[in-house]
Amino acid sequence: MTKVLYNNNINEEVLQTKKIAIIGYGSQGHAHALNLKESGFDVVVGLRQGRSWDKAVEDGVEVKTVAEASKDADVIMILLPDENQPSIYKEAIEPNLEAGNALVFAHGFNIHFNQIVPPSDVDVFLVAPKGPGHLVRRTYEEGAGVPALYGIYQDATGNAKDVALAYAKGIGAGRAGILETSFQEETETDLFGEQAVLCGGTSALVKAGFETLVEAGYQPEVAYFECLHELKLIVDLLYEGGLENMRHSISDTAEWGDFVSGPRVVDESTKARMKEVLTDIQTGKFAQGWILENQANRPQYSAIKKAENEHQIEKVGKELRELMPFVKQKAINKKEVVSN
Ligand code: NDP
Ligand code: MG
Ligand code: MG
Repeated sequence: MTKVLYNNNINEEVLQTKKIAIIGYGSQGHAHALNLKESGFDVVVGLRQGRSWDKAVEDGVEVKTVAEASKDADVIMILLPDENQPSIYKEAIEPNLEAGNALVFAHGFNIHFNQIVPPSDVDVFLVAPKGPGHLVRRTYEEGAGVPALYGIYQDATGNAKDVALAYAKGIGAGRAGILETSFQEETETDLFGEQAVLCGGTSALVKAGFETLVEAGYQPEVAYFECLHELKLIVDLLYEGGLENMRHSISDTAEWGDFVSGPRVVDESTKARMKEVLTDIQTGKFAQGWILENQANRPQYSAIKKAENEHQIEKVGKELRELMPFVKQKAINKKEVVSN
């Protein structure tokens, strides 16, 4: 099995003398900044004036412009939306990089697909928590952590790995486990996971199940509970103990149905299409399409988003959740989803 590192394998001294700039204060940014600060590191946040700026000030962290924070720091973690990173990097970060600095990412997209090309005299590595930012923060506060991947793209100083591991420990990942990866592996598996299984695959499966029941004349409310609401219970069981644990908790009838009908729905042809999705990721076709879509101001993205939000399952769900205040409360923070 691959080596998993924990706190006691990591010496964070190498990072204690450095200043860390966290660029962005959204889902990941606030978690990294606050966790690192509470782990005893010297942190400055880089932002523009606005919502995040106000929040960071309120949280008591030092805030500067992206350019000033980058200039001050030795380690610069870029936690901006992936699509905005190349232009902000060019304008405010690159001019402030010094030899021996470290440029850090939480997702490999822009480096792997050459949207950001750093100078050769800085370290470039990633520390990618395998969970949403709000969990990175919450678990840290609870004394636990979210596992993370680290990967080295460029080791100009000879210390990149030590700094990366110290950073990962500082955000609490060493309490849960830290695994080595490469920018290529992190980028491709992350994109594949969210497209085929976690976000795309799951949304499509839920909608198809809901539509099948509603088209057959069943009540949309019943279809919603069966195909969306109950999914959480199943996923919790999977998370805690894998497939066997989930199957242990359901009835034998449900388990038999799982065995005989699951493979009729997701079969070899589904897997063949998953392979096509993976190929588009590996060849850069997906990345190119998404970069062009952004350059064109997202016409297709906006149209699809609108249609998706108008789907019947969303309307029914909204009404039902209003009646379940315990569910609604948890949905307040829209970022609290697995997106990476
Ligand atoms: P968010 O969208 O939550 O936050 C983005 C932050 O960037 C906000 O604070 C925003 O501030 C700021 N920002 C946007 N534009 C600018 C600008 N022009 N100048 C200055 N600041 C700006 O991002 P995420 O935390 O979701 O993602 C950050 C990175 O982490 C990405 O690389 C992503 O792939 C990666 N990642 C994300 C995960 C997640 O859980 N979401 C999980 C693992 C990795 P403002 O309020 O001013 O808009
Ligand atoms: Mg049932
Ligand atoms: Mg992702």
